[in-house]
Amino acid sequence: MSTAPTMTSPIYHSAGNEVSVFAAAWRRGLAVMLKGPTGCGKTRLVEHMADRLDVTLHTVSCHEDMTASDLLGRFLLRGGDTVWVDGPLTRAAREGGICYLDEVVEARADAVVAIHSLTDHRRELNLERLGGQRIQAAPGFQLVVSYNPGYQSILKDLKPSTRQRMVAIELDFPTFELEQKIVTDETGMPGEEIGDLLRLAQAIRRIEHPGLREVASTRTVVAAAGLMAEGLDFEAAAHTAITGPLSDDPELRDGLRGLVREFAHRTPTEPGGRPSRNR
Ligand code: ADP
Repeated sequence: MSTAPTMTSPIYHSAGNEVSVFAAAWRRGLAVMLKGPTGCGKTRLVEHMADRLDVTLHTVSCHEDMTASDLLGRFLLRGGDTVWVDGPLTRAAREGGICYLDEVVEARADAVVAIHSLTDHRRELNLERLGGQRIQAAPGFQLVVSYNPGYQSILKDLKPSTRQRMVAIELDFPTFELEQKIVTDETGMPGEEIGDLLRLAQAIRRIEHPGLREVASTRTVVAAAGLMAEGLDFEAAAHTAITGPLSDDPELRDGLRGLVREFAHRTPTEPGGRPSRNR
């Protein structure tokens, strides 16, 4: 089995049984569908699992121009010769690694169909462009896809024939305590100094507004805490990393800015015992 060329182990804080479910699916050669909002830890979970299971991770960020050849491979001109170059899915199948298709619904239908024969009992790839060469997936091979169910339109959804080939692991934003641990681990910022960032993110997650397609993710809280670690004050960090990127709608932006200010002006004596910040 090949070894992941990772320098450090990616830390993943689990909220439930996702690590053991993922590992069980891997041992059984079952494809996994990771569902959850953007920035909630799907990619980090896959990186952690590849490291833990000691297999190479091949990550593909899916997009609408992606074709089956981008996954399977193609002939390329190299020094006057035409040579076949495996795509990430083929490489993972040959080597017995994990192939992670991030945001899979962004991919074109023909690209998604390319994964079908690998996700049923055949566990094989048929490379038509390579004279119909068949590749039996090596032990350790696993297909993992991620997507954000809240973000999909009817047009962009996974077909039932694709869905039923996978086991689903559902993730969501962590609880306050867990998110605090994650953000402290990722940034070195002490837990008591990031409490208001977490509360702000939670407040934004409760907002229902048609202009808000995404909410404040753990990723954006990590970014804001990182900016605070670099010396930015709460308001600048929260606006730059959390609320600023969320929307271009002027009214919504004003509302979110007001919310940031509200959190920035909270005093340490308020109920909830927030720590003071030296501003
Ligand atoms: P997704 O793939 O769901 O969009 P990521 O896995 O890239 O999100 O997570 C974004 C960032 O948030 C990560 O780089 C990491 O810093 C942090 N993060 C989120 N959830 C976790 C977790 N459970 N454990 C550790 N870090 C996490």
